[in-house]
Amino acid sequence: MSRIVVTGGAGFLGSHVCESLFARGDHVVVVDNLVTGDLANLEHLAGRPGFAFVQADVSRVLPVDGPVDAVMHLASPASPKDYLELPIETLEVGSRGTQLALELAREHDARFFLASTSEVYGDPQVHPQPETYWGNVNPVGPRGVYDEAKRFAEALTMAYHHRHGVDVRIVRIFNTYGPRMRPQDGRVVSNFLVQALTGQPLTIYGSGEQTRSFTFVDDEVRGILGLLDSSYVGPMNIGNDGEFSLNELARLVLEVTNSGSEIVYEPLPVDDPTQRKPDLTLARSTIGFEPRVALREGLVLTAAYFARRLGL
Ligand code: NAD
Ligand code: UDP
Repeated sequence: MSRIVVTGGAGFLGSHVCESLFARGDHVVVVDNLVTGDLANLEHLAGRPGFAFVQADVSRVLPVDGPVDAVMHLASPASPKDYLELPIETLEVGSRGTQLALELAREHDARFFLASTSEVYGDPQVHPQPETYWGNVNPVGPRGVYDEAKRFAEALTMAYHHRHGVDVRIVRIFNTYGPRMRPQDGRVVSNFLVQALTGQPLTIYGSGEQTRSFTFVDDEVRGILGLLDSSYVGPMNIGNDGEFSLNELARLVLEVTNSGSEIVYEPLPVDDPTQRKPDLTLARSTIGFEPRVALREGLVLTAAYFARRLGL
């Protein structure tokens, strides 16, 4: 049993990570300012022995008392809609927030785990993307606030490892979806499912020929815990290496929701990556990771969640 601090634990992915840690017997301290998170995501853990919640902006303070065996830094706006509305806050939580989380780990001689992103590859010119690819990011474009924050966070994490001997893990997460996403979060899976379920048009940005690799949250969390428990230091891709165009995703969403919604095409956001797919060789060979939930199956499960949440 370990006592693990999870920044951003009230968010979509963080709440699932906390649940899995708790289920295996770890104690969990969530630190979150609720900027994009929701306490309702943690209501089944609240009040249980071994679980604690601290409301704080981790770019300013990280007030945790007692023993700490690991610090998992997941706090950050993650949806493009959110980080475009919170550009400075996103840069702060990736830089100052990451440093405070690393200092907490260093103080307790604890393991540090960083939630990084496939966005470090930007609009990739190597496909699929292995961890050795350095990426193609526009630092001054609108997405730069997120991409560069995460790239800085990775650099800082490795600097604490080399300079101070902190035991670190870095996961590069590829588009993850599932229950507890906010209906208005702005990401494509939540947008399409909510639109399909409520009879509104599905909004495809650009031609819809850009691709993404979508990971169901249970697979992502299993990979995250596998990496946390491993001895591998350095970035590791965790995702699903199925690759779908947005046009294919829209058709699949209409099919699984049995929706008659039409599809409309809207302008492509600036610097929107044209393709994205993880090279999972490292994850497979190092921690035996294999995604299990196919996109269709994951969409069915997520559609059921949105239908319940929207009272349909
Ligand atoms: P989310 O927005 O649901 O969760 C982020 C959480 O961080 C929220 O609870 C929010 O309130 C909290 N937070 C943000 N800034 C904070 C601050 N300064 N202090 C304290 N708490 C703060 O997003 P998510 O999808 O759950 O993403 C979680 C992490 O995973 C993020 O670091 C994100 O960059 C990374 N990630 C997610 C995906 C994905 O597809 N979901 C992909 C790549 C990377
Ligand atoms: N997208 C879309 N319609 C939407 C929301 C997003 O076509 O309603 C596109 C977006 O332009 C991008 C892809 O879907 O090409 C994935 O977007 P998302 O915001 O989910 O994640 P990203 O991979 O861009 O961070």
